[in-house]
Amino acid sequence: MEDCIFCRIANGEIPVPLVYEDERVAAFADLHPQAPVHVLIVPRVHYSGMQDAVPGEVYAALYEAAPKVARAMGVAESGYRLIVNTGPDAGQTVMHLHVHLLGGAPMSEGMVRLA
Ligand code: 5GP
Ligand code: ZN
Repeated sequence: MEDCIFCRIANGEIPVPLVYEDERVAAFADLHPQAPVHVLIVPRVHYSGMQDAVPGEVYAALYEAAPKVARAMGVAESGYRLIVNTGPDAGQTVMHLHVHLLGGAPMSEGMVRLA
């Protein structure tokens, strides 16, 4: 999608360091981290979010990537949290499906709301 920032990052149009990538997803650091490790995992194909009819394979790709991202970021053992904000009440601001991976410190309740 032309005007979508995460499409442009995922297709390399906006060069950012990727912490993980495969043919289906790209993962990169969040611009405004809410935890010591805060990575966004995005599908290369555009969906606005869980509001769309997202095929199960897309979720599989995102969640299969998550432990690999965690390993790459050194939080596989210490633990991490995955969050998908959906719609206005959840505070979704970027309308391209993405999974937040948060870790690197014990979670506070605040992180649940902020991510
Ligand atoms: P949401 O609130 O939609 O679940 O999360 C969107 C996230 O994307 C926010 O945590 C925000 O900091 C991050 N973000 C927004 N624009 C950019 C960007 O251009 N680059 C990166 N790396 N992160 C972004
Ligand atoms: Zn997009």
